[in-house]
Amino acid sequence: MSAKVPTHVAPHLLAWYDGHARALPWRSPPGTPPPDPYRVWLSEVMLQQTTVAAVRPRFAAWVARWPTLDSLAAAPDDAVMAAWAGLGYYARARNLLKCARAVVERHGGAFPDTEAGLLALPGLGDYTAAAVAAIAFGRRAVVVDANVKRVVARLFADAGGSVRELADTITPDERAGDFAQAMMDLGSGVCTPRAPKCLLCPLRADCAGFASGDPEAYPARAAKAAKVELRGTLFWLERGDSVLLVRRPASGLLGGMRALPSGVWRPDDPGLDGAPAGAAWRWLDEGVVHVFTHRRLTCRLAAGRVERQDVEVDGEWWPVADLPSAGLPTLFARAADVFRRDRCASG
Ligand code: SF4
Repeated sequence: MSAKVPTHVAPHLLAWYDGHARALPWRSPPGTPPPDPYRVWLSEVMLQQTTVAAVRPRFAAWVARWPTLDSLAAAPDDAVMAAWAGLGYYARARNLLKCARAVVERHGGAFPDTEAGLLALPGLGDYTAAAVAAIAFGRRAVVVDANVKRVVARLFADAGGSVRELADTITPDERAGDFAQAMMDLGSGVCTPRAPKCLLCPLRADCAGFASGDPEAYPARAAKAAKVELRGTLFWLERGDSVLLVRRPASGLLGGMRALPSGVWRPDDPGLDGAPAGAAWRWLDEGVVHVFTHRRLTCRLAAGRVERQDVEVDGEWWPVADLPSAGLPTLFARAADVFRRDRCASG
């Protein structure tokens, strides 16, 4: 089902926004002059991947410390990275500094006032450029974040297609900043992912998703990808009262973590490939299955022992009694439990 372009969306939404806008420290009230571009930009970067509630106190502390773009551009890298601690996705902090310094060097400390000019800055992507152009400079720009995507998909009962193009058809020439913020507020408080509050929504009469009787069907959810099935062998190699632990390669699953030795995880059973040493390997009856985000790993367990002190292995001998202090990831900790139970049972 697809709807005609709703012509009343912008006036209905702006009238609602005038009475319901969220008061946020980086915003100006509806219909008033736009806020400082520095604050708009900073808040938009902080809000990517982080909630409004978490950003509020961090934003306040940040602008108290660096009240202007110039002060931020002059700050030492270490201080900025430390101030970002806890907000996550640290590339954002590095990009923030890069961008601040570029604005000072190229534009004398004043942000360009067009979407294209903003897009030319380092570390400033499509979404942020559109949001800053609209909110800080009142430019008509199509601002599409996750909330806006959902609202637009429902308004048009659009099961696919370009959300950006649809959003473009409802974006007004006037009050572009208020419109962008109104869409964000509607998406976060009314047109929520689950149980949208359609009865409180100013766009109900324009909304094809509501008319369909099942607005939550939009946007169509991507089918979940099937998990990749992998097989592996985990090795328990003892010497004296210690067991061999290794460090996993820095990249890949559980990268850099301490682990039991294992060969490559692959679609077929690797058997004893990747064994850390020549030994009389014995298969345990029990195995371990572990589910990662996109993979399901089924492991067989092989136990062995070496007696000689000088046997060459890559890794560290760890006292079995001290294994809890090794910080093994869950997969290996569970396998270690199986090995230890087996060890006790076989005396
Ligand atoms: Fe979302 Fe319901 Fe409003 Fe449509 S009527 S925009 S589905 S809250």
